[in-house]
Amino acid sequence: MSDTVTSRLSGFHKLPMEERLAQIGRMFRLSDEELEQLRGVGTLEPVLANQMIENAVGIFSLPLGLGLNLNVNGRDYIVPMAVEEPSVVAAVSFASKIVRESGGFVAEADESMMIGQVQVSNYGDPTLASERILDAKEEILALANSFHPAMVARGGGARDVEVRLLPAPEGPRGEPLLIVHILIDTQEAMGANLINTVAEGVAPLIEQVTGGRVYLRILSNLSDKRLARATCRIPLSMLADFDLPGETIAEGIAQASRFAEADPYRAATHNKGVMNGIDAVAIATGQDWRSIEAGAHAFACRGGQYRPLSTWYLEEGHLVGRIELPLALGTVGGPIKVHPGVQVALKLLRVSGVRELSMVFAAVGLAQNFAALRALGSVGIQKGHMAMHARSVAVTAGARGGDVEKVANLLVKAGHVKVEKAKEILASLILEKPAVAVTITNG
Ligand code: NDP
Repeated sequence: MSDTVTSRLSGFHKLPMEERLAQIGRMFRLSDEELEQLRGVGTLEPVLANQMIENAVGIFSLPLGLGLNLNVNGRDYIVPMAVEEPSVVAAVSFASKIVRESGGFVAEADESMMIGQVQVSNYGDPTLASERILDAKEEILALANSFHPAMVARGGGARDVEVRLLPAPEGPRGEPLLIVHILIDTQEAMGANLINTVAEGVAPLIEQVTGGRVYLRILSNLSDKRLARATCRIPLSMLADFDLPGETIAEGIAQASRFAEADPYRAATHNKGVMNGIDAVAIATGQDWRSIEAGAHAFACRGGQYRPLSTWYLEEGHLVGRIELPLALGTVGGPIKVHPGVQVALKLLRVSGVRELSMVFAAVGLAQNFAALRALGSVGIQKGHMAMHARSVAVTAGARGGDVEKVANLLVKAGHVKVEKAKEILASLILEKPAVAVTITNG
C-alpha cells in the first residue's frame, strides 16, 4: 500500500454503510473476502472460536467504525475501532481533524521492554540474597535467553535483572518481599507467554543462588518500561466554537486537566475517556485490552495518587496536550494472526511495527480526551453525546430503518432522550403512516 493514503475522508460519515465500505475497499484494494470480514460476515468461524476459548457456544459482535483524520508524525492513519458506545468514533475523528490542521500529533514509543517477576521467599538475609542475585545476573540472563533463542536472533531477549525489596505486609513472618525483575525485549510481541516461560525457567536458578523458595513467576502488566507518548499543539484561534472564543474553550480544557490532576474522582473519568479510544482500537486489532487497562491505571497511580494519563495547558497562544502511558501491544501473538478480522484491521492501519502501533494508540487516546474535555469545559457533554445516544434509545424502543433517525431527532428536539419518550414518538409516527393492507394467509 502506498503512503499516499489520506485519513481525511470528507463526507464519509454521511455515506450509506455499503458505500463507506466500497470506498475503503478501493483505497486499500481489499479483496471480497477482506470486505466481508470488515462487514463482519464470517469474521470468526465458529470452529476457530472453539479453538480460541473454552466452552465456546458462538460469536459475539460489536460495531466496527473507522476513526478518521488522524495524523501522527506526518503520516495519516485510518483507525479501526470496535466499540458499542456512540460518539467515540466521531469524537476521535473530530479531534483529529483539528489537530491535523494544527500540524498533527507528534508521538514516540519505547522499545518493547517487558517485566517478568519472580517472588522469592525464605531466603535468609535480604541484603545477601539481593547481592547474590545481582552477582549471578549474567548467568540468569544467559539461562533466560536459552528458552527463547529465536527472540535473541530477532534482536530481543532478556536484557537486565533488577532486585526489589518491599516492606513486608502485615503478617506473622515479617520477611521483606524479595522480588526479582527480568527485563525482556519482546520485539513485535506483547510478550506475556514468553515472559512467563522465562520467569518459570529461571526460578530454579534463583532458588539455588538465594537458597530461598520461589512462589509466583509471571509478567507484570505495569509495563512502565514500554511507554508511548503523544503531544499536540493547537493554536487558540482554531478552538473557537459554540459561539465562544478559542481562549475560553482552551481555558475550559486546561481547567479540566487541573481538576483531574488534583482529584482522583475526576481523574478516573478523565482516564475512562482516554481509554474509550484506546480500548476500541485495541479490540479491533486483537490486543489484550485487559492488560492495557491494568497497565494504564497502575501507571496513573505511580506517584501514590491516581492521576490523569494526559494533561493540557496553555503555552504561547497554543493549547498543548500530552499523554504518556504503558502500551504492551503486539503485531504478532495471541489472536493477532488467528483472527481474520484483526488482519484486515491491521492492514487498514498500515503500521510498520509495534512501536508505530503504540504511537497511534497514544494519539488516539489524546484525541479522545481532547474531544471530551472540549465539550466538558464549555457547553457540557450531554448536548453532543445525547444526539448520538438518541439513536440507540430509538432502536431500544423498537424503531427500525428510517424511523431510527426520525425518532432520534424528535427525542433530541424534545430534550428528553428516554426509551419511554421514544416509544411515544414511535407510536405517533406509526399512527401517521398510511394503513397497509395485510393479507392473512393462515388461520
Ligand atoms: P504468543 O506466545 O502467542 O506469541 C509470541 C510469539 O510470537 C513469540 O514468543 C515468538 O515466538 C513469535 N514471534 C514471531 N515473530 C515475532 C516477532 N517479530 N517478534 C516477537 N515475537 C515473534 O503471545 P505473547 O507471548 O505475545 O503473549 C500474548 C498473549 O498472552 C495474549 O493473548 C494475552 O492475552 C496472553 N496472556 C496475558 C497475560 C497477562 O497479560 N497477564 C497472562 C498470560 C497470557 P518464537 O520466538 O518461538 O517464534
